[in-house]
Amino acid sequence: MKHTELVKQYHELAFTSNYLFGFPYKKEVYAIRIHNMDIETLEAITCLDRDSKTHTVSLRFCPNNAQKELLISKGAVKQGYTDDELHAWALKYAKGNRGSMFEKLETEKAGQVWKKDKVPFTVDADLWIDEVPYQLKYAKATFTNEATLKNLSGSLEKALWFDMDGTIADLYGVKGWLDMLTKEDETPYKEAKPMVDTKAFAEMLNKVKANGYKIGIISWLSKGSTKSYDEKVAEAKREWLKKYISVEWDSVNIVAYGTNKASVCGNGFLFDDEEPNRNNWNGNAYGVDNILGVLKNF
Ligand SMILES: [Mg+2]
Repeated sequence: MKHTELVKQYHELAFTSNYLFGFPYKKEVYAIRIHNMDIETLEAITCLDRDSKTHTVSLRFCPNNAQKELLISKGAVKQGYTDDELHAWALKYAKGNRGSMFEKLETEKAGQVWKKDKVPFTVDADLWIDEVPYQLKYAKATFTNEATLKNLSGSLEKALWFDMDGTIADLYGVKGWLDMLTKEDETPYKEAKPMVDTKAFAEMLNKVKANGYKIGIISWLSKGSTKSYDEKVAEAKREWLKKYISVEWDSVNIVAYGTNKASVCGNGFLFDDEEPNRNNWNGNAYGVDNILGVLKNF
């Protein structure tokens, strides 16, 4: 694969095109945030690196001196420590990896706790600052490699799925909800307040639809319920959607409690408050902390 093609595919698949770059220049460490990175610049500051054993081609952040000077002229700022110091701290705190150490410093600077994770670049950003996602790259960092891109391209369905209870509908905030559900009373499903700004949410959903995504609901029925109660609950849920979220859903699935959601929906993107549901999902799954923020990226 050619450099240009690799950059293009990476750019399309990446969760965000905002970057926080770090690099050494004349021994000092500099950093810069770039929003909505364009493909040309991304190509200019990356290079291809072929692994001599696996022959896999990797895309790396490898600015030369001229490009570093360009980044400095665009606002890259001295961080107040040297590359040698970064290396020394990395040996102590980040298994000798300067990139991880840089990430740790930037994460802590943003008031967050750093932990080493392996979330794929298609699923989430490395760091969120003021609700803006960033990928962090320190000099020589690998963006991706050819094999990974081949596996990824085309494998993600363009569909977003939303759970209801605890995700967009505050069922658990209704007083006495569990008691009522046990008595097969569907009122709590009707009375649940929205957990999102419904207007902004609907606007966002219409935007992602315009961007080619399908949108759907995947929500469970009540636990251990009878058929007639299932019907009432499904009806209440559909009415709730109509009342609060003015969009045309491509698919609304109100399924038996405990159903594996991936088996119904495939491998798009899931928003769900339950961690087991997110873990059982094939594709990319998000919690409920920042639904509108995440939707901005679709
Ligand atoms: Mg839920």
